Formats: sequence, structure tokens, C-alpha cells
Amino acid sequence: MDQQYVDLHSHSTASDGTFAPADVVRLAKDSSLVGLALTDHDTIAGLPEAAAAAKELGIDFLPGIEISCEVPKPATMHMLGYGVDIDSKPLKELTSQLMAGRDDRNPRIIRRLNELNVAITMDEVEQQAGGDVVGRPHIAAVMMRKGYVSSIKQAFDKYLATGGLAYFDRDRPTPKRGIELIREAGGLPVLAHPVQLRSENDAQLERTVKDLADLGLAGIEVIHSDQDTAMYEKCTRLAERFGLLKTGGSDFHGTNKKDIRLGIANGRRVPKEFLDRLRERLNRPQQQTRQTSHEHHAAG
Ligand code: AMP
Ligand code: ZN
Ligand code: FE
Ligand code: FE
Repeated sequence: MDQQYVDLHSHSTASDGTFAPADVVRLAKDSSLVGLALTDHDTIAGLPEAAAAAKELGIDFLPGIEISCEVPKPATMHMLGYGVDIDSKPLKELTSQLMAGRDDRNPRIIRRLNELNVAITMDEVEQQAGGDVVGRPHIAAVMMRKGYVSSIKQAFDKYLATGGLAYFDRDRPTPKRGIELIREAGGLPVLAHPVQLRSENDAQLERTVKDLADLGLAGIEVIHSDQDTAMYEKCTRLAERFGLLKTGGSDFHGTNKKDIRLGIANGRRVPKEFLDRLRERLNRPQQQTRQTSHEHHAAG
């Protein structure tokens, strides 16, 4: 039988992608994928629409989310949550906290930009975003549209990236808390694009992954648009070593990341088997790990 493919990392207009959730699903179908996970930053708002479209088109759909965790610079750590229960109270609390962090940061960025004679308003940025999640890519898009920069990249490099003229941090959960919250929401925490941890060497990467595994990490993204073959092989070895599920995806953002095509991550495609293994784990009656057993007696 022919190999079948999926994409387990994608963004829609619910966060900073440019395709509506149902359109990402349609594109998956048109790209001959058999399965898809939508993993918008900080929100589950796109999941119902995507799930409905997937049902109609016969795409195996896995609900997801991507959250950013607090780690020392220059690393970035994103945690994917697969199979989260969209009605769960902990998940709602998490997304509203993340949104509050953005509501605090965005006006500060705009104010600083205004001081730097970049005349854009919060209204323009919100309109650009369309959905609940307003982020730096939307600010960058408005700056570009109004001619203050010539590209999204330039907006980040000069103003919005860490260390940029209008950079402000926002509150993020620690990796431990991120893992716990995804588990509490019924999901499987998966370390996204390990290459972005910017580990100094293999030993450091291994230590980080081991620490996360001890905290209840369930999987690691071995295939991603930013990862080359060496990183793919490294992550695959780490998955085997620490008993983690392997996942993969393109990190499709529509025209916000023009070079990325749904279903293809740096030339590599994602086998359906990755999705099947995630589902198996989610369907286990006791998907708890050794570390999550003490999650529930925190209240005192
Ligand atoms: P935010 O959600 O506001 O923290 O912004 C994060 C988003 O900005 C992610 O989708 C990143 O891919 C994107 N991003 C971060 N750094 C850059 C950069 N240097 N150039 C372009 N996009 C970036
Ligand atoms: Zn994004
Ligand atoms: Fe990410
Ligand atoms: Fe992403």
C-alpha cells in the first residue's frame, strides 16, 4: 500500500495564519493529506470549524494548540498540545491567561513604535489579526502595509524580535507548567521544533529533552520546516532514548510564511503513522505518566 501523509503543525486565522480553519483543512485535502492537526498559538477558537470541515471531507483531524514557554534567551521553547479537550476548564483558563499576556504586551509595543515615529494603531493591528490572538506578525503586517518596513522580516529584525527597538516580553508559563496544563486539558504535550531551543551542543539538547520527559513530555517534533536531516536524526534518536512519540509538521502559516507548503517540512513529509501513534496514546484509558500522578492534589 502507498504511504499516506499528514501534517501535525499548522496555523489558521484564529492565530497568525492567513487561511481560515476550514480552508486549511481544504488545502490538506487538496494536498492529498489524510490527516491534519491545527495548532494555533494560544487559542482553540479555530478547532470547531476545522473539525467540522474535516468531518465533511474525510480528513482525520486532531485538535491541537501551541503555547510558548518561559526559557532563558536566546532559546525559544514552544509546546504543542495534541488531543486537548476543547471544553476543559483548565484549557479555558490557560488560553485566557495567555490572551491577558498579549493584551498587556501589544499596547506597549504600539506605544513604543509610536514614540519611534511608526504611526500605527491598536485598531489597525486588531483588524489585521481578525481573530482573538493578536501577535507580532500582525503588527509587522501593518507596518509593512503602511510602508514603515519593506518586509515582515525587517519589522522583526529592527523592531519586534528579542532585543529589537520595540520588543517587550510577555508572561509565559514555565515548561513544567505548560506540560501540566496540557495534560490537565487531556492533551499530549509535545516539544515543538527542538532546533529553536538553540542548544549549544548535543549534550545540552539531550539534557533539556530528558528534563522535559521527566516532567511528563509525551513527544518530540522530529520533522519541521526549520529542521534539517541531521536534526531529524538527532530528534529521532532522542525520541527512542526517552520513549517519546515522534511528530512532525510544516508549521504552515499561509502567506505569512510564504516558503512553507502544507504537508512538506524542509522537503520531508510526515507519515500517517505519527498520527496513529498519537491517537493510540490518547485512547489509552490511563495516559498518565509517572510524573503526572501528583498533579491533582495541588489544591490545599
Ligand atoms: P508572538 O505570538 O507575538 O509572540 O509572535 C510569534 C510569531 O512571530 C511566530 O509565528 C513566529 O514565527 C513569528 N516570528 C518570530 N520571530 C520572527 C522573525 N524574526 N521573523 C518573522 N517572524 C517571526
Ligand atoms: Zn505563528
Ligand atoms: Fe512554534
Ligand atoms: Fe507553529
